[in-house]
Amino acid sequence: MTHIHIHIPAREGRAFAVAAGQSFRVIDAEGAQVADLFAFVADTTGEWLSAEHTRVALGRLFPRVGEGWCTNLRRPILTFIADDSPGVHDMLCAACSPSRYALLGVRGHHASCEENLRGAMTDLGRRDVVVPQPVNLFENNPILPDGALGIEPAPTRPGDSVTLRAELDVIVVVTACPQDITALCGGVPSSIDIELLTT
Ligand SMILES: [Zn+2]
Repeated sequence: MTHIHIHIPAREGRAFAVAAGQSFRVIDAEGAQVADLFAFVADTTGEWLSAEHTRVALGRLFPRVGEGWCTNLRRPILTFIADDSPGVHDMLCAACSPSRYALLGVRGHHASCEENLRGAMTDLGRRDVVVPQPVNLFENNPILPDGALGIEPAPTRPGDSVTLRAELDVIVVVTACPQDITALCGGVPSSIDIELLTT
């Protein structure tokens, strides 16, 4: 088995193709870093990994190792096959975006996962891409007893990872979340590494 390595610098995103049956690892290289993950079916513009459909399919609010994730057409798209992290991931929250940072009081431009997604897909010639709600690996948004949604730092240590297997030919986009206004990434956004496992 060989590995293709993709380095995603802090605050940036990357797109890569994954064939059906192929697996990839998402590695939190430096710890306490959220990785927003999107996946689009390769041969269409109308089907993608859907967190809201996956919540219904699994009957759960947060992803768990061993379970499959589905598209907006409810077809299996990714399977969560290994979790070498504290096991805390989010499946509830929209990607950060320019409007999110404006509401947080940022003046001027601030990098965002939404812009990272658009840029990565534009580089592949896919314009006007929808921005699905991502699965936010390593993101710690606990539901509090009164129903409130918490925002806590990612509990990951350097080198923690998750491994996913594609069930369809997909374009995956991973963004190293640039969030440095809330506690989400421990206040200091850092890099993410991808290992594409080829047999
Ligand atoms: Zn983000």
